[in-house]
Amino acid sequence: MSSLAYAESLIRTIPDYPEPGIAFRDITPLLADAGALRAVIDALIEPFAGEFDVVAGIEARGFLLAGAIAIAAGVGLVPIRKAGKLPRPAASVSYALEYAEATIEAHDDVAPGARMLLVDDVLATGGTLVAAHRLAAKLAITVVGTAVLMELPALGGRTQVGDVHAVFTA
Ligand code: AMP
Repeated sequence: MSSLAYAESLIRTIPDYPEPGIAFRDITPLLADAGALRAVIDALIEPFAGEFDVVAGIEARGFLLAGAIAIAAGVGLVPIRKAGKLPRPAASVSYALEYAEATIEAHDDVAPGARMLLVDDVLATGGTLVAAHRLAAKLAITVVGTAVLMELPALGGRTQVGDVHAVFTA
């Protein structure tokens, strides 16, 4: 088995979490395995190697991947946080969830002209990543790529977000 196939086998599906009908993709067993973590970090970076100066991770599981990508690729990191967590957000974007509204925020600590890679763990409906693209646009940051560990194609996120690099597809 390749190291990526092994990494995929470590993603656990939890039925009816956090609410009935959701098949939650739990990546913590993968994160706990050094070889699997290294393999997926390399796979997330690979299409964009040398093309980005900063990586943005979306709270919360996107942070875990973005931190590892930042060190592996030798770039800085921008946290994209849920509302109210940053002391001085420079921009914020609200978007619709199934039953509610969510807001994400970021600071503007990126050098002008920086090329950003956007990262999250799972692409579902695409609402979160579309909002992250809007946030980057508000901050005049150039997004050169979007990468996720796992895409759930049945939820149609790719049609919303556009070009997304997904290491795994469920
Ligand atoms: P969406 O905005 O619908 O694409 O949802 C993506 C965000 O929700 C990501 O930040 C994921 O962490 C989380 N998410 C959505 N669906 C799942 C799922 N089935 N398993 C794990 N995380 C999910």
